[in-house]
Amino acid sequence: MNRDAIYARLPIALQELACSWAGWRRYRVRFTPHFEKTLAAIEALEGVPLSGLHAYQLRRLVTLANRARLHVPHYRAMDLPAFAANAEDPAKGIREILDAFPILEKQTYRDAPESFLAEDIPAERRRKGKTSGTTGSALPLWYTQESLAEEYAVVWRLRRRQGVRLRDPHFTFGGQMIVPLAQAKPPFWRTNHYGHQTLFSLYHMTKENLPAYVEAMHTLPVTYVEGYPSSIHLLARAMLDAGRPLEAGRVKAIFPSSESLLAFHRRDIEEAFAAKIYDRYGTSEFAVAMTGCSEGNLHVDMEFGVVEVEATEETDDWVRGALLVTGFANDATPFIRYRIGDVGTRSKRPCPCGRPGEVFLDVDGRIEDYVVTPDGRWIGRMDHVFKEQREIAEAQILQDDASAIEVLIVPRGGFDVAAEAAVMREIRMRLGDEIRVDLRRVEGIPRESNGKFRAVKSRVGRQPTQSGVSEDGGEG
Ligand SMILES: [Zn+2]
Repeated sequence: MNRDAIYARLPIALQELACSWAGWRRYRVRFTPHFEKTLAAIEALEGVPLSGLHAYQLRRLVTLANRARLHVPHYRAMDLPAFAANAEDPAKGIREILDAFPILEKQTYRDAPESFLAEDIPAERRRKGKTSGTTGSALPLWYTQESLAEEYAVVWRLRRRQGVRLRDPHFTFGGQMIVPLAQAKPPFWRTNHYGHQTLFSLYHMTKENLPAYVEAMHTLPVTYVEGYPSSIHLLARAMLDAGRPLEAGRVKAIFPSSESLLAFHRRDIEEAFAAKIYDRYGTSEFAVAMTGCSEGNLHVDMEFGVVEVEATEETDDWVRGALLVTGFANDATPFIRYRIGDVGTRSKRPCPCGRPGEVFLDVDGRIEDYVVTPDGRWIGRMDHVFKEQREIAEAQILQDDASAIEVLIVPRGGFDVAAEAAVMREIRMRLGDEIRVDLRRVEGIPRESNGKFRAVKSRVGRQPTQSGVSEDGGEG
């Protein structure tokens, strides 16, 4: 029996003990002395003018570029000169260093991920992660506890701006399977007592069960809400439909993660929770961070890395194109000028909120459909099913109606019966046993007319477009 199966059989009190223990462990890994130090350093930079941010960026970029040149095989092979800080003009100094590096394409990384490993980080400090893939398959990458701490410093600077503190009571809508799928009665959530966190199951949000969630929003202790916007939105809709929005002040702020926040999400969620959403853009490569402001724009966390825009469209007000990111936090796998696969629009004007530094009007990550199950649940982020599978080059889920899905798989060498069974297990865990699942091996998966890959294409689980207008049915 695996760990998930054992967990599912435990009484709720013991499941909560397991959640609390996991919460304590997460806390220990994330909120280290390095986290405290980084948070203090970047909070000290609040309000510093752009030139000060550039000077800080340049210092870190010089360190990164020299480490890459000396200790990372991929970059060492380029035979680069030693880099030094141009103290007179930091912005120019940054440009000069970046220009010494070619743009890093995903394909280059895919061909030899190990050649990006920094040799000055001892193996025992390395942790293994995965790239954020828009291709349906993920590549390995490595990071350290310090990378994680720096990411969390940026996250918590944003939260602290809204008056939220560590271990304040909060609601989490994440992908964890914390409530067994077979459970038919509330509570569809578990408490992490250590972190003062209530974890809500995303896999039980049916029409019959949503009233219990709505009730919990009104009664359980909370200061802020975090998690997948698609699920928070589903609940927000239920709260509004039931005429039960929260009173202003109960929730201080909402912090979406992992999915693209759509315009219709924002509107409904802010109305139902009577609180503002502060969005964030980050990737599992620890290569870029942006945080939302009261105007709904995304400010580059310039202390965390450099973001370039490869301009394909430009006006007097903004420039739009593919993002090239250089992160300072990932010391184990440095990504320099990495084409992350997302497109963004950078403003040429200062943000009305008054915060200095670079600001984006939008970043398009992936926008994807949901899978709808026969019992009416809407399940997002199905691409996670393929996250562990290196034997799969690409995969796509197609759905015409709620009774079945078709899974297209472009196999790599080593995709065998066991790998197929593992995919099936992941799918069943999220969707249950009722839905029909057909796996089909294919040579390739066509792109959309805009060139984007869609991990899930569902006729019944289609999101309304950004304007809020549904193409064919939307949420119904
Ligand atoms: Zn702003």
